Amino acid sequence: MPLVVKKFGGTSVGTIDRIKRVAQRVKKSVEQGEKVVVVSSAMSGETDRLIGLTRELSNRPDPREYDMVVSTGEQVAIGLISIALKEMGIDAVSLTGWQVPIYTDNAHTKARILSIDTHRIHKELDDGKVVIVAGFQGVTENGDITTLGRGGSDTTAVALAAALKADVCEIYTDVPGVFTADPRIVENAKKIDMISYEEMMEMASLGSKVMQIRSVEFAAKYGVRIHVKSSFTDEDGTWIVEENEEMERVAVRGISHELKEAKITVVRVPDRPGIAAKLFKALGDNNIVVDMIVQNVSHEGFTDISFTVNKVDADFAEEIANKVSAEIGAKGVERDDKIAKISVVGLGMKTHAGTAARMFEVLDKEGINIYAISTSEIKISCLIDEKYAELAVRSLHEAFIEDMEGAVKYE
Ligand code: ASP
Ligand code: MG
Repeated sequence: MPLVVKKFGGTSVGTIDRIKRVAQRVKKSVEQGEKVVVVSSAMSGETDRLIGLTRELSNRPDPREYDMVVSTGEQVAIGLISIALKEMGIDAVSLTGWQVPIYTDNAHTKARILSIDTHRIHKELDDGKVVIVAGFQGVTENGDITTLGRGGSDTTAVALAAALKADVCEIYTDVPGVFTADPRIVENAKKIDMISYEEMMEMASLGSKVMQIRSVEFAAKYGVRIHVKSSFTDEDGTWIVEENEEMERVAVRGISHELKEAKITVVRVPDRPGIAAKLFKALGDNNIVVDMIVQNVSHEGFTDISFTVNKVDADFAEEIANKVSAEIGAKGVERDDKIAKISVVGLGMKTHAGTAARMFEVLDKEGINIYAISTSEIKISCLIDEKYAELAVRSLHEAFIEDMEGAVKYE
């Protein structure tokens, strides 16, 4: 009997009507002879509402108590799905993270799954029940409830699929799959039929919001086949799978953009060894993750160092940069929040040259200035002015995906 994990996002369970539709879909696969484990997010907007309640009381709510509050959205959703299924004559049981149990470390608000005890789930499945598990939550060794970070239900689903050796992990969402670019910006964006874990990880970390990055890392590690699809239709969505030779024939799989970073520049830094180390150590010591870094050409023994951080961390990063700047005798610190990171992603770049040059050409043709560049084996990212973000995405999509349909495929 095939075993399927089906994960439903917040919009898919956003109303009672939609919950009934989810139940209908689950019923159908049970009738087709599948064993089904459902993972659900909270009803849409609910997690935000719960976080808002904690913020009304405190700017920095105690992490353990925050988890106690925000984990409750999923509990409501799984109970409702179970009730809906029973009404349709399908036996079901809902389980919270601690009832499974899904064990995590004790990093409250962003806990990592350490292990999953599958005995209870197997027993319920063997009794012929659909098992509905609360996403986004787990429990520590000491019995405290944890949450896995925003979007964490994806990770619950993939981790369960790995632990249960499920045949597939289906991620139901409000879009038909993963697209070559954000369809709200690029009219001709196309659904990607198949994408490798590696490409999906890059796309997720570069701004595609379809899945939590950690869930894709997990899938890659354990070889979980993922199928991202719409909860509103029956069409095939996007398969996220092991890379194959066929995939490398396409240089660029997709274009991502990200507006959530800020650029900080330390101006007129004395150009001598140890200065960069000092700056980035200070940031690292304060748990600030730096993304892109550029150091300008040195003039008369001075240089500018720019780096980007998540906007959430930008105030703190600026403060630290100011302190270091004073210590090392730099001129001062500048900050720019109106930037965008535009990336092209594709496995084919590993084996085929020229993608970077072409990307720069396309941006240049539109008169878009590049502030910083970063690359990996399968992606190139450029930092540009935020006001050109949509233009850049459209032009790159046209150049790499629309026009090049024949040409970018390497035989
Ligand atoms: N409900 C949680 C959130 O909104 C988890 C999830 O949806 O995956 O982040
Ligand atoms: Mg999500």
